[in-house]
This record gives sequence, C-alpha cells and structure tokens, in this order.
Amino acid sequence: MIFRLIVIAAVIGLGYYIFNYIQVHNKCQKCDGKGYWRAMRGEKEKCDMCKGTGKISKGK
Ligand SMILES: [Zn+2]
Repeated sequence: MIFRLIVIAAVIGLGYYIFNYIQVHNKCQKCDGKGYWRAMRGEKEKCDMCKGTGKISKGK
C-alpha cells in the first residue's frame, strides 16, 4: 500500500518535471518568457514573437 503511494507520487513528480521542461523549452527567446519587453523609453512593449504569452509554439 505504501509502495503504491510512492509509485503514484513518483509518476506525478515525473509528469511535473516533464511539464516544466517543456515550458522552459517553449519559452520565448525574445522576451525571456515574460510576454513583453522594455522599450527604450521604459514602457512595456507586448512581445510580437509570442503575442504576449511568453511561449513559443513548436514548429515556428
Ligand atoms: Zn516573447
């Protein structure tokens, strides 16, 4: 019974790890995943590469 709980916890942990890994690798390089960047005069500019999401979908 305890063993089963450990296996379930391990699977959840692994899934979470993979999810984080994918998130990092989809991160927008232009805005560093923030979804915006600072313009020269200090105002927030919405990132046009990721459309403000901070993430890049695969394939582009
Ligand atoms: Zn971006």
